[in-house]
Amino acid sequence: MALLITDECINCDVCESACPNQAISMGPEFYRIDPDRCTECIGHFDEPQCVMLCPVACIPVNPERIETREQLMAKALRLQPQAVVDACAATAASGSGAPASAAAPSA
Ligand code: SF4
Ligand code: SF4
Repeated sequence: MALLITDECINCDVCESACPNQAISMGPEFYRIDPDRCTECIGHFDEPQCVMLCPVACIPVNPERIETREQLMAKALRLQPQAVVDACAATAASGSGAPASAAAPSA
């Protein structure tokens, strides 16, 4: 699922640089997420970085963009294949279990 930013955003600018997919940018009034670039951080991190950092918790799931983990992984590979491969390799090397990008059963 892609995420979205609600009008509760206070434009603190914390999330934009944390996004591995450059999916976040300033909109007309507050920050926004490009659903075609948001992978919920699958392929890069275990948790959505923007959600972890947002001080006002204004980044829910976009109900219009329900996607499976496999679809999100395919999107991540399409956007940044080398970065995803590197993230998977780092996770495997650390022995910390399946990377966020691993093909886990869909929820
Ligand atoms: S969930 Fe990850 S990929 Fe999606 S907008 Fe937030 S930081 Fe970017
Ligand atoms: S971290 Fe939250 S409040 Fe700050 S710009 Fe991003 S969405 Fe807005």
